[in-house]
Amino acid sequence: MKDQTKLLHVGYEKDTQRTMEVPIYQSTAYEFKNAKHAANLFELKELGNIYTRLMNPTTDVFEKRFAALEGGAAAIATASGMAAIFNTIANVAEAGDNIICASKLYGGTVTLTGHTIKRFGIEARYFDVHKPEELEALIDEKTKLILFESITNPSIDVPDFEGIVKIADKHGILTAVDNTVATPIHCKPFELGCDISIHSASKYTTGQGLAIGGIIVERNNIIDKIKGNPRYYHFNEPDASYHGLVYTDLPLPPFTLRVRLALLRDLGAAPSPFNSWLFIQGLEHLPLRMKQHSQSALQIARFLESHPKVKKVNYPGLESDVNYPYAQKYIKGGCSGLLSFEVESYDEALKILDKTELFSLVVNIGDSKSIITHPASTTHQQLSHEELIAAGVPEGLIRLSIGLEDPEDLIADLKTALEG
Ligand code: PLP
Repeated sequence: MKDQTKLLHVGYEKDTQRTMEVPIYQSTAYEFKNAKHAANLFELKELGNIYTRLMNPTTDVFEKRFAALEGGAAAIATASGMAAIFNTIANVAEAGDNIICASKLYGGTVTLTGHTIKRFGIEARYFDVHKPEELEALIDEKTKLILFESITNPSIDVPDFEGIVKIADKHGILTAVDNTVATPIHCKPFELGCDISIHSASKYTTGQGLAIGGIIVERNNIIDKIKGNPRYYHFNEPDASYHGLVYTDLPLPPFTLRVRLALLRDLGAAPSPFNSWLFIQGLEHLPLRMKQHSQSALQIARFLESHPKVKKVNYPGLESDVNYPYAQKYIKGGCSGLLSFEVESYDEALKILDKTELFSLVVNIGDSKSIITHPASTTHQQLSHEELIAAGVPEGLIRLSIGLEDPEDLIADLKTALEG
């Protein structure tokens, strides 16, 4: 089945009312048929609904649809993209462990990995996604995860997937890719050998800036990498918090199962059923939207590249971009709607932001309406000068999230802002 078909049909079996649309199951809890049924569900002898912090029938359709789109075994939705990233890290690492991250990442992931998880005793080490050989010197027996983005936000880099996966596999380390910007329409991390795909559903999934959410997807047969692997002993040893359950002994995808049973249970970052329903609506036209976002972004990138006031344009669909060869290999059918460009200075960037009329001054991406952002004064403001450079955010950098307006109108607006 092709992506567009999956996104309209997978995961929904019509309920007793035969509703054409997936219903919003707005309920905190579910009635058990009898005491035995309740006990069976808690013991995992039967699978079924218990409590919406753990699972929900509307969210279940969203999870199944997203897993099918990624070509994965199972998915688990979370309250936000950041919750998806934190739960992924917390599912493998604990005090004394380390994870290795791309040096250029979304600002929230930079502060999460550089500051917040440090307070939990987890160290983050950083590598250049174009120099996977750097990983060798960073890996030790306490390394639990290699985390990077398929198209980085806001530096717009495409990693050397093959090089990273080869080293990760050699050491039996899980790879997690934040696939938010590329979306599964343009990048399929599991086909590239990655183990986990993470998304902020708040972006292209909702598509219209309607709700905050996230999702974690695991590939088929991830158990082959986890079972018996001493790095992931907590998947292989009895979980004292769940009556001695051994995750790798169950015939279920273990990574998302452990997020559900241990982390959603204890940390509670579950999505609301209404938001899951909004994401189901967004997914129905994701492939159509991504095609347009990508076409328009390329047209605008070409315009900016030819403009004398623009020092540099970052868009992996441009032949001149250092990421072009990587995009040719790993990103298919377009390079998504995110691009950035550099002007002379911080002040010049702010002037341009104030002069645009069609672009909204918003810190979001993946909306149907075009967005302009100055990362150094907003999303990346909490980063030190050194962290800004490491994150690939020069002070004159402007990020554009190209929406679904006619690209000619967007070009005219940018031209006025640059020249006005
Ligand atoms: N990952 C990327 C690439 C993002 O751009 C964002 C937000 O901008 C996030 C994760 C965090 O997602 P959320 O805002 O849904 O927590």
